[in-house]
Amino acid sequence: MPESIAMRAMVLHGPRQALRLEDRPEPIPGDGQVLIKVSACGVCRTDLHVVDGELPQARYPIVPGHEIVGEVVRLGPGVTGFIPRERVGVPWLGWTCGHCRYCLGGQENLCDNARFTGCNIDGGFEEQVVADARYCFRLPARYGDDEAAPLLCAGLIGHRAHRMAGDAERLGIYGFGAAAHIMAQVARHQGQRLYAFTRPGDRAAQDFASELGAEWAGGSDEAPPAELDAAVIFAPVGPLIPAALRTVRKGGVVVAAGIHMSDIPAFRYEILWGERVVRSVANLTRADGDEFMQIADETEIVARITRFPLEQANEALAELRDGRLTGAAVLVPSAQPR
Ligand SMILES: [Zn+2]
Ligand SMILES: [Zn+2]
Repeated sequence: MPESIAMRAMVLHGPRQALRLEDRPEPIPGDGQVLIKVSACGVCRTDLHVVDGELPQARYPIVPGHEIVGEVVRLGPGVTGFIPRERVGVPWLGWTCGHCRYCLGGQENLCDNARFTGCNIDGGFEEQVVADARYCFRLPARYGDDEAAPLLCAGLIGHRAHRMAGDAERLGIYGFGAAAHIMAQVARHQGQRLYAFTRPGDRAAQDFASELGAEWAGGSDEAPPAELDAAVIFAPVGPLIPAALRTVRKGGVVVAAGIHMSDIPAFRYEILWGERVVRSVANLTRADGDEFMQIADETEIVARITRFPLEQANEALAELRDGRLTGAAVLVPSAQPR
């Protein structure tokens, strides 16, 4: 057995606590797992939901983080498809059962027994992590490690939501954070017209959206200048569902992309009438990941990132919570303190 080496991890011991920096023994890869040296891990709104105790499937203590980029250090028994020193990405979907009706039906994102990275499997807010090799991705070489990290959830689940929005000419985006800023670039590349909705009065986010090609950017309380074909909601704010329904045309679709949302207020049937559709997007499949990494390889996505060292994970989460970030926060173990 290799002798146990200590590594640093940011550990969440229970809901609504601060993460604590701890030394832990380096994890040992089990059957089918790879040991990965983490070079970057994105910080996602879902991490805030884990911290806030809003996800029933979360276990504590947990190391959050599900947008992991790193280098394979060692292979556990039976791993094929990866070699030591190879760069690898680890997403939110960490394990599925393979035998429930969803797994058998090609909807592993809905697996009844799924396990999720940084939620009920330790994630990437640490220096070394183990992951099931079957759920890891290769990442497009054109992106550096810190630029690639937000692709793994903001990009990937954004892509699934984007696809669910269908073939929209005019696409609305509610909440202009990490996921939206990637989706906007892909949507513009594909020739879609973008309408960005932010917190009322958030000029910085509106300017950012305009910079990335939005034709119109305004507050979520404002009406866009044209009827939309579809809208994707990234902000975890229930009242945005009826707000978005009011902006889409007959037959239009409103996609809620977050894992958690505040309660949706009652609304008049009239705004749903006309075959408008409201739907959620849950998790990802491995096929989504392969498809999105292909798109990311073909599209020049410029990820706007703010780097934090591992020990400043709490600061990164606080800035995300307060809406002080433009783009995505990424924990980089080797980064200098901010
Ligand atoms: Zn399953
Ligand atoms: Zn995420």
